[in-house]
Amino acid sequence: MVSNSKGPNEQSTTVRERHREAARELIRDENIKLYLGGEWVDSDSGQSIDVTNPTTGEPLATVQAGNRADVERAVTAAWRGFDTWSEYEPRERQQMLTEIADRIDAERERFAQLDVLDNGKPITEARIDIELVVDHFRYFAGALRTLEGRTVPTNGNRHVETIREPYGVVGQITPWNFPLLMAAWKLAPALAAGNAVVLKPAEETPLSLIELVHQIDDLVPAGTINVVTGYGPEAGRALVRHDRIRKLAFTGAVETGRGVMKDAAGSITDLTLELGGKSPILVFPDADVDTAVDVAIDAMFYNTGECCCAGSRLFVHEAIHDEFVSAFVDAAEVLTIADPLLESTDIGPEITRTQLNRTEHYIKLAEDVGAEILIGGRAPASEALADGNFIEPTIIAEVPHDTRVVQEEIFGPVELVFEWTGYDEMMRFANNVDFGLAAGIVTDSLSTAHRAARDIEAGNIWVNQHNDFPAGQPFGGYKQSGIGRETARETIEAYTQTKTINYKLNQ
Ligand code: NAD
Repeated sequence: MVSNSKGPNEQSTTVRERHREAARELIRDENIKLYLGGEWVDSDSGQSIDVTNPTTGEPLATVQAGNRADVERAVTAAWRGFDTWSEYEPRERQQMLTEIADRIDAERERFAQLDVLDNGKPITEARIDIELVVDHFRYFAGALRTLEGRTVPTNGNRHVETIREPYGVVGQITPWNFPLLMAAWKLAPALAAGNAVVLKPAEETPLSLIELVHQIDDLVPAGTINVVTGYGPEAGRALVRHDRIRKLAFTGAVETGRGVMKDAAGSITDLTLELGGKSPILVFPDADVDTAVDVAIDAMFYNTGECCCAGSRLFVHEAIHDEFVSAFVDAAEVLTIADPLLESTDIGPEITRTQLNRTEHYIKLAEDVGAEILIGGRAPASEALADGNFIEPTIIAEVPHDTRVVQEEIFGPVELVFEWTGYDEMMRFANNVDFGLAAGIVTDSLSTAHRAARDIEAGNIWVNQHNDFPAGQPFGGYKQSGIGRETARETIEAYTQTKTINYKLNQ
């Protein structure tokens, strides 16, 4: 086993000081309230939840532990907000979303650093998130002008047309791994379509969304956006089960999504689900090894492996397997694990101790079945990182395909590498998981790429790259990775319902 705990030679006190200073500068209010009907209010529960910095283990703020009564208030406020918002002309909604984009853009470094503070993602990656956030608001600002109904051909005795109407109030629940980006993926299309929103962010990472609400409070009509912080089984579940929520969008783990689906059945609420993944990367014999290494590093270690679309099963053709694995391990070894506020950091901490323990548990399971840990598998030696949830980038060879390590989502920086010989067998293994979110293909041949893309059971295929999310490109999963598509034209349609009007014409 090789240790790769590189990183600046600094003390944990330095890291703590840097984070305390950033927190002092960036967090407006350490006791964050609920945002209902345009007001900051206390939760009915009287309880709060600590928001902890995953890099230092220190508290950053508290959020209110919203409950059913709070969700009730939020939904009522949102219907009032909808009354106003639905009167806006599309042109006015477009102006509003554009203004939201401009305001985020003007404060992009603040938003990026807030995401670093409570999520622990490297600052360079947080900046990419915020660029995408801005672009998503701009995209949906434009897309909303294209929402049109249609006319159905008839024999002239009647006129049949469809119009697209917003649902009214939609409920949205986001995960912690891309805090503001996941909120933007949901808020922008829902607002664009004319809905009001009740959003419950992940309890671990509310800071950037709360800042957004502060920044646009004077802009958006009261009640159009409502934020209920709180635990999933309490606030989240109450939102999902609420009978005046007409559409739900949830991003999170498959198991939680399964529960959301069952709970939404009570009111037959329409839903979009973005769930987990165990995505394959297929490296073909003609692939350029350097390109394949770049793709694999990005696919697995971006966002410290906490990506739903992480390429966490790497299939490398035998012709280049040994050369590739050696170069891949070398590249992983020089990744910098350090304070995520530093520009040079590639790998930050995992979000919580629980998530870290979960990752370590899967590494242990791999060891138990005799797999070879090629690199990583343990906490970095650096004293400066001792208080954070850090783990080295880990690469494991030849774990049997039918084990839990291969079949389940780890959600940490753990790559599994397999050597393949025959295309059909490799594709069978690649598809042999319950998930179908994404896949990567590395080849110089367009025909090979196209054939493999057709054969893979997944919603998002990247060729010779990974993790590219331009607005307008539909994102979502096959199989148990979810239902529906976000970030594209069909998303705005998914936040509307079709009304058909059939006129009998006088002869
Ligand atoms: P999670 O399912 O634990 O939580 C997600 C959200 O759901 C949180 O806001 C949580 O409070 C809430 N929640 C929990 N229990 C709930 C319940 N019973 N009812 C309603 N809401 C509830 O997931 P997580 O750990 O925050 O995020 C990681 C997961 O998200 C991973 O599985 C990852 O793959 C997935 N993810 C998917 C995508 C995608 O687009 N497919 C994107 C990002 C993350």
